[in-house]
Amino acid sequence: MSISEESYKDVNFCLRCGSKMLLKFDQENKLRSECTNCGWTFYKNPIPVAACLILNDKNEILVIKRKFEPNPGEWALPSGYIEIDQSPEETAIDEMLEETGLIGEIEKFIGYMPNPSPIYEKVISFGFLMKITGGELSAGDDAAEACFVSYENLPPICFNSHRYFIQKIKEELLDKFELAQK
Ligand SMILES: [Zn+2]
Repeated sequence: MSISEESYKDVNFCLRCGSKMLLKFDQENKLRSECTNCGWTFYKNPIPVAACLILNDKNEILVIKRKFEPNPGEWALPSGYIEIDQSPEETAIDEMLEETGLIGEIEKFIGYMPNPSPIYEKVISFGFLMKITGGELSAGDDAAEACFVSYENLPPICFNSHRYFIQKIKEELLDKFELAQK
């Protein structure tokens, strides 16, 4: 799908010099927003996010109730925007501690998935299976609640990317379980 005028509807003034931005096709024939004064170009890209899938020793999954936009009051995995000076892994470790009080490390990369965003149009989520190495469970920072629940009792999860990470890990665990039964 090509970049549409709709994607740039909020890009009106240059972040550098404050002059008016105008839509233009670049040399690759892609629509961009360009400053009429200094020529600075605004690129509309998906915003990267890291999400944490944290299991306890009963294979229950840690979910948080979101405090802030987007989707306050709804349930999701701990997650956060990747800062300019962070790797996705560093963000996952930080968000895990900030939102759940648990210290962790990366067990493995699960995958990535784009997700529509009411704020940024689109984010792209990088999912990590985390290993708990310390800390104590308590909702913190931008989480109103944090708790472990079984797959059967999972509340509705508000982001399609998080649902995808959960489904992927669930299938892997089932495969392992079935192998162990044989
Ligand atoms: Zn400018």
